[in-house]
Amino acid sequence: MHFKPKEETYRMAKGKVRINQPVRYLNSTFKKEGKKYTTFLKGLLRRRLRGLDGFAIATHKEAFKKIDCLDCANCCKLMSPTYNKADIKRISRHLGMSYDEYFKKYLYFDETGDIMNRRTPCQFLQKDNKCSIYPVRPKDCSGYPHTQNRDWKLYISGTHIQNMEYCPAVMNMVESMYKKIITEGKWNLTVKDAGK
Ligand code: SF4
Ligand code: SF4
Repeated sequence: MHFKPKEETYRMAKGKVRINQPVRYLNSTFKKEGKKYTTFLKGLLRRRLRGLDGFAIATHKEAFKKIDCLDCANCCKLMSPTYNKADIKRISRHLGMSYDEYFKKYLYFDETGDIMNRRTPCQFLQKDNKCSIYPVRPKDCSGYPHTQNRDWKLYISGTHIQNMEYCPAVMNMVESMYKKIITEGKWNLTVKDAGK
């Protein structure tokens, strides 16, 4: 598949850079820079960084100003949320089904014991990229991609490295962090550094 150069995925909106083809941007950036950014994230685990949490949360907000999830839906198309029992109770009630009916129709236990969707794309994803059960969606969906969480370092190995391959906003965050920390050599981070 041919990907357009990265610059072509950007357009200016009200003076701000906006990524209007997030999946294309993600795939081309991951192909070119994925290994470098994975090594960078692993390296963060071994280093002391002042102000990482505040900087990361501000960078998360900047990334979601550039990217609209309705232009993307990559997570709903390629991944499954991990359900907890409260999710299943809430969603099955919303759909007028019993817990067991809902489980049997849509879910299964994977090899680690997590409860997952049987199919991807998710059964609730609509053609316009909206979620048909948005108000009652699984907690894992409402918290995704988890880059807004404090203790950012704790999520690097199990979450952020994996999500960088699927979520354009995570990729954009990591690009910004690499630029600030490695290219500009800034190891004492502040909220104001994000988005520059
Ligand atoms: S429940 Fe909604 S938000 Fe969650 S994966 Fe399915 S479509 Fe996406
Ligand atoms: S959370 Fe990430 S992968 Fe999911 S729709 Fe938004 S930008 Fe795309």
